[in-house]
Amino acid sequence: MSSTAPQDTGRQQQRLWSVDEHLADILAAIRPLEAIELQLLDAQGCVLVEDVTVPVALPPFDNSSMDGYAVRVADVQGASEEFPAVLTVVGDVAAGSDGLPDGGTVGPGQAARIMTGAPLPAGAEAVVPVEWTDGGSGGGAAAGMTPASSAPEGAGGEVRVHRAAEARAHVRARGSDVQAGDLALAAGTVLGPPQIALLAAIGRGTVRVRPRPRVVVLSTGSELVQPGEALAAGAIYDSNSFALAAAARDAGAIAYRVGAVADDAATLRATIEDQLIRADLLVTTGGVSVGAYDVVKEALSGASAAGKPEDTAEAAEIDFRKLAMQPGKPQGFGSIGPDRTPLLALPGNPVSSYVSFELFVRPAIRALMGLPDVSRPSVRAVLEADKAIGSPAGRRQFLRATYDAGSGTVSPVGGSGSHLIAALAHADSLLVVPEEVTSVEPGTELEVIPLR
Ligand code: AMP
Ligand code: MG
Repeated sequence: MSSTAPQDTGRQQQRLWSVDEHLADILAAIRPLEAIELQLLDAQGCVLVEDVTVPVALPPFDNSSMDGYAVRVADVQGASEEFPAVLTVVGDVAAGSDGLPDGGTVGPGQAARIMTGAPLPAGAEAVVPVEWTDGGSGGGAAAGMTPASSAPEGAGGEVRVHRAAEARAHVRARGSDVQAGDLALAAGTVLGPPQIALLAAIGRGTVRVRPRPRVVVLSTGSELVQPGEALAAGAIYDSNSFALAAAARDAGAIAYRVGAVADDAATLRATIEDQLIRADLLVTTGGVSVGAYDVVKEALSGASAAGKPEDTAEAAEIDFRKLAMQPGKPQGFGSIGPDRTPLLALPGNPVSSYVSFELFVRPAIRALMGLPDVSRPSVRAVLEADKAIGSPAGRRQFLRATYDAGSGTVSPVGGSGSHLIAALAHADSLLVVPEEVTSVEPGTELEVIPLR
């Protein structure tokens, strides 16, 4: 299955498609999903499709940046440790209150105890932090920042201020963050935690975004058993559906994992038809080679032939091709069902399916989300190895590797076998050997795709 021409004899010689051609065909067929209104947290990682303007200034009112005392500048002018300004405390201003109780003001010789974030009370011009004072005293006893017991709350004592304050000291001005009418976030912004913070701060409960695609992952193979169950002779555990569902989530999708479907074309078609209702993208693994039980190919290729109603899963247009890559040579792509839901049919070998996901499915998911950069960025790194690594002629090879950004080096992990799941688990990047290269000496610079 790894050689090219011999198995194709007897049929017309199939051309090999390049990785770039296949990706370009996929991206050309995929349209971003329709935008919907989502709750803020559901919009995390999504692309905003509206310009969001600021409805009210932030902060909405002048407020204190410190716990301390709101004062008049003239009253604390020239104050020092030796000659403190002694002010009468007229009350407390807590965060969430609307100034001093009963619309009171800070008059000459007076101060109001104020908490961080509380509005600057009328009459006050600055805040002196509690550290610049004796902490205040109520009836001779040190009160600190604990509420004074006598009514009105916080009133009745005195505070000694040891330092002068300029006008507006420790006051966060209304509108100093954003002004009403400002552009908060432009359409096209990807909503990460800080952007979600801003939307919440300006009072937005929902936003219009392109939603996360719903990706249905379906593995095929009569040999597959679900993890946690007993392994019969000749059976193996289904790892692909887990790997791909996890990778789909990692790419930003909502993943639905459908446990392995047996190698039976009718069953597979029926299962796919059932899944169409919740899929923006379908991903299958296995059954795309030239073996006797290659069920995906059997179920989906040429299945839109005469006699099949157009609005069923059988109305599929899936193109199965061979790619000039290793691993991952056999690939299928097309659309299926009444909504022409895109479907990618990946090969079954675990490493092949994962590499195929990274190269083709991840970009498809990100294109559905309307994200600008669909593929992972690659870097250049110097090969670190005991000996030269070989690579098949005419195929772009993706080896599993560890990449050290500090030293700019990359080392292969395990061999090129596409069944080597443990090596994949210990790798953090893909090492790319170009099509025309058949041997790479240590010390050579190569393209590396970090996977994190
Ligand atoms: P296939 O292309 O279906 O012939 O599969 C190629 C190889 O990958 C076979 O050795 C399969 O047993 C294996 N394989 C296929 N699907 C999975 C899966 N979901 N999990 C683990 N191995 C798989
Ligand atoms: Mg199979």
